[in-house]
Amino acid sequence: MILLVNDLINWGNRSWRLDEITEYLQPELKNRILQIPIGRGVGRDKFIWPLTKNGAFTVKSAYHHLHLISNTYDANKSHSSHIINKATWKTIWKMPTLPKIRHFLWRAINCATPTFLNLSIKMKSNPKCPVCGGEDESIEHALLLCPWVKLVWFGSPLGMKINMQAITTFDCWLLHNYQSYKSKEDRDWALTMISFICWFIWKARCRFVYRATPCSPELVISLSSYAAFEFLSTKIHIPASMITFSESPTLPGTVVVCTDACWVDELKGGVGVVIFDHLGHHLGGLAVVLKAENAEIAEARAVLTGVDLALQRGYKSVRFRSDSQNVISELQTNRTCINWKTSIIMEEITWRCRFFDRIDWEWIPREANRAAHEAAKLGFRTVGLRCWSETPPPSLTMVLRNDGLPCPH
Ligand SMILES: [Zn+2]
Repeated sequence: MILLVNDLINWGNRSWRLDEITEYLQPELKNRILQIPIGRGVGRDKFIWPLTKNGAFTVKSAYHHLHLISNTYDANKSHSSHIINKATWKTIWKMPTLPKIRHFLWRAINCATPTFLNLSIKMKSNPKCPVCGGEDESIEHALLLCPWVKLVWFGSPLGMKINMQAITTFDCWLLHNYQSYKSKEDRDWALTMISFICWFIWKARCRFVYRATPCSPELVISLSSYAAFEFLSTKIHIPASMITFSESPTLPGTVVVCTDACWVDELKGGVGVVIFDHLGHHLGGLAVVLKAENAEIAEARAVLTGVDLALQRGYKSVRFRSDSQNVISELQTNRTCINWKTSIIMEEITWRCRFFDRIDWEWIPREANRAAHEAAKLGFRTVGLRCWSETPPPSLTMVLRNDGLPCPH
């Protein structure tokens, strides 16, 4: 019976005898075996590294080999992978951020970041996310979809809710963000913020992988906000109040009250308030008709309406968000007489806020305040007041869904 390779060798003339197994061999394989020279059978067996001339292992040869495989893989992949939009490259090269971050984003889009999924393709290792273990670690998962990362995006000054269904690839997401800001000022601000958040998320993820340091959304939010503001303050003029605004995530037990006003003219307008818990679950809101002299008064009135609703509901710890920079910076600096037309409303807001245990004021870009904006539009169309707790009005449901919120039920 044949058990060992040795049994297939005719040691007399040092040739192969494959007759007994020939019916199991493909002709090609048989030929290849016959081509293997047979030694003298003296000396001890040893391990051979086939990629070097002398059979000894070197890191360099292994690296070259992996590089070769990866290139082969990329070449295969280019047939099936999507073409990256030219506008995306432009977005990256024009992004107001640090060169190293621009380079990192460029690599991310090129599938050149060592995520576990990318590594698994090249090295046949485990593709699962090292942080949550739930999904394969694609660049989309690592930067946008991992549960801890979602907290970063929502808690960041962008107040962004990542919609899993809407994300196809990282580059599409980036381009979508680029295109969704109407004014250059808002867009530059948001892109800088996005780039720094991505960078610090990736750094935290690597610290987790290599040094087992737990990923902290709070830390990433404060590091990225601080770095982004520092970067921006060297480029453009930012009001001092903006730099000192809250850089912490929304804590459990704290609710987020988003307010907005829709002002058409002195006789036509609306106010919207939408409330979320610290994870972005919708908790209700209101829409009410409003008459105000100008847009800024309308915005201040919207905040006051939000404060009242939070008080009625007995919330103790509240983060107020509005896209009105003037109103928010006045409230942050506690100077309520910058604009005399709104000063009385501002004083009223400050007075009523004594009844909370903890509050902070946060300015967010208009695009990040769509739910409240939609509610304000609804207020404009409503006769009187419309208040809801769980089930939002249909027009708002659409916005909440598009924002990727876990609610409404
Ligand atoms: Zn994960």
